[in-house]
Amino acid sequence: MKRVVLLGPPGAGKGTQAEGISTKYNIPHISTGDIFRANVKEGTPLGVKISSIMEAGQLVPDELVCEVVADRVQKSDCANGYLLDGFPRTVAQAKFFDEYLAKNGQELDKVIDIEVDEAILLPRMVGRRVCRKCGKPYHVVSMPPKVEGVCDVCGGEVYQRADDTEETVKNRFAVYQAQTSPLTDYYRSSGKLAPIDGAGSVQDVLNAICAVLGE
Ligand code: AMP
Repeated sequence: MKRVVLLGPPGAGKGTQAEGISTKYNIPHISTGDIFRANVKEGTPLGVKISSIMEAGQLVPDELVCEVVADRVQKSDCANGYLLDGFPRTVAQAKFFDEYLAKNGQELDKVIDIEVDEAILLPRMVGRRVCRKCGKPYHVVSMPPKVEGVCDVCGGEVYQRADDTEETVKNRFAVYQAQTSPLTDYYRSSGKLAPIDGAGSVQDVLNAICAVLGE
C-alpha cells in the first residue's frame, strides 16, 4: 500500500517525477491541477467557478479542492494506493485529508518534498510545455518533443499553460511560500516528511524518491 503526497514548489518537477513513481509502483497519479484544467476545458460548473482563479495563479478554495480529492481517492483504481500531486496546498487541506483518512482507518505513508532553489525554477517553468491531450510534460530546452508542438506519446498538441508565463509564475511562487511551504513543518511533525534534493537529473531524483518509498 502506498499513499504518497508529492510536495515542492511550482516547477520542482512534480509532474515529471509523478509519472515515474506511478509507473514503478503501479498507483494512479492524481493531479488536482490536471483535474481542474479538465473541468475548465469542458466548461463544467466547477470549471466555470475556478477558471479565473487558476489563470491568476491563485488557489482554488479549500472546500472545492477537498471535495474533488475525497471523491477521486474512493475510485477502485486507488485500492493499492495513489500519488497525490498538487494536493494538499494548504494546512487546512492537509488536516482535512488526515481526518478523512483516519475516518476510514487509513493514513498517508510518505510525503516526498522535492526541494529546489527558486533561482533555477523560473527558467524551468517559463520553458515548460505540456500535452493538451494526455498531460505529458515537456521542456523547450531540456526535454522537447521529437516534433515541435506534437506529443511523442499521443500526438496531441504540446502547448504552454496560461499560468506558466513569467508574471503568473512569480505570483505562484509567492502563493507557494505563503500557503504551501508551511506544510513541510506540518508533515515533519508527523514524521512522514522525506526531503529530496531536486537539483539533479530526472533519473537521480526518481532514484532518491524510490529509495525512500522502498519496494
Ligand atoms: P498545478 O498544476 O498543480 O500547478 O495547479 C494549477 C492550479 O490549479 C494552481 O495554481 C491552483 O490554481 C489550482 N490548484 C491545483 N491544486 C490545488 C490545490 N490543492 N488547492 C488549491 N488550488 C489548487
